[in-house]
Amino acid sequence: MPAPGPPIGILAELTHRCPLQCPYCSNPVDLLKANRELSTQTWTEIFHQAADLGVLQVHMSGGEPTLRQDLEELVAALSARSVYTNLITAGVNLSKDRIKVLKEAGLDHVQLSIQGATAEVTELIGKHKKGFAQKMQTAEHVRALGLPLTVNAPIHRHNIHQVADFIDLALQLDADRLEIANVQYYGWAYLNRSSLLPALEDVERQVEIVEDARARLKGVLNIDFVTPDYYADYPKPCMGGWAQDAFVIVPDGTVLPCHAAQTIKGLNFENAAETPLAEIWDASPTFEKYRGFEWMSEPCKSCPRRELDRGGCRCQAFAVTGDAAQTDPACILSPHHDKLRNVAVEASAESPGAFSYRRL
Ligand code: SF4
Ligand code: SF4
Repeated sequence: MPAPGPPIGILAELTHRCPLQCPYCSNPVDLLKANRELSTQTWTEIFHQAADLGVLQVHMSGGEPTLRQDLEELVAALSARSVYTNLITAGVNLSKDRIKVLKEAGLDHVQLSIQGATAEVTELIGKHKKGFAQKMQTAEHVRALGLPLTVNAPIHRHNIHQVADFIDLALQLDADRLEIANVQYYGWAYLNRSSLLPALEDVERQVEIVEDARARLKGVLNIDFVTPDYYADYPKPCMGGWAQDAFVIVPDGTVLPCHAAQTIKGLNFENAAETPLAEIWDASPTFEKYRGFEWMSEPCKSCPRRELDRGGCRCQAFAVTGDAAQTDPACILSPHHDKLRNVAVEASAESPGAFSYRRL
């Protein structure tokens, strides 16, 4: 199926380098070293093509995007084309001066990840000494410079009991938005799932806390809630649907319909340093493969919810069933749903083992 219209957003993973080592990192297990990263000039050309294509927002991510010394230049290139820029950062070793320079280059928004609502949990997950204190400072600088702030809290077994504390922390940091994002189990998180998956009763308690806070803090703090697939009845529309309105570019320029698409065997991915972005968006056989509804089989094919969730996540379907065209097993209507639920129940009952930390 051809593209439905211009894409809205791009997640640009500028580097896989990161000072943290989170065991649920969404980067692939095979991380790309610095010598595979695109040059400033190539990223700038890609961003100009993105603007020509009609892209409205670029989320500058990683790894840790501030490790790119040319980040200001890239932000300025996008800003000059009126593309909204969001910096997704772990917020360590980031001075107020650097944030100021980024703001002056045109940065529109900062999304700060915080691994735990306390220093102890943040350092257990990120393995970065004094990381929590540095993140608090980064948040303070961001707000002092007048930039809007989103706090991103990835949730798992080691911090699910801190959800109420994350809400208090986001208020204390004067954040505009808090993302309570239950970890998605691909890549590093899949490798560490028995140490990360929370118990069902903790997930249920978390839902109550988030719903109560959303009602109580309406107009004060926006709380986005990414629910855990393993305990869900219906899947989420991953990336708004495969190649529907956004895509990912990884540090070497490979273009993906979603973070984890490279885990699906048999797909070929174009590279934005070699193929024009417009051609990839309009005609990539990989983008077309699961776009729209024609690829679907039952129960998705005739399901009234298909416009809502677009059959869920192709990567999860592949990981659990071996066929990316199957219904996401997070769906209660999938014949594989119990398999996914059982993995969660069994893994969450195991004592957490040592993490395989993300290392480059
Ligand atoms: S999840 Fe952790 S390790 Fe991965 S990029 Fe973010 S801060 Fe770095
Ligand atoms: S059957 Fe498919 S379209 Fe229907 S709810 Fe499940 S995943 Fe969504």
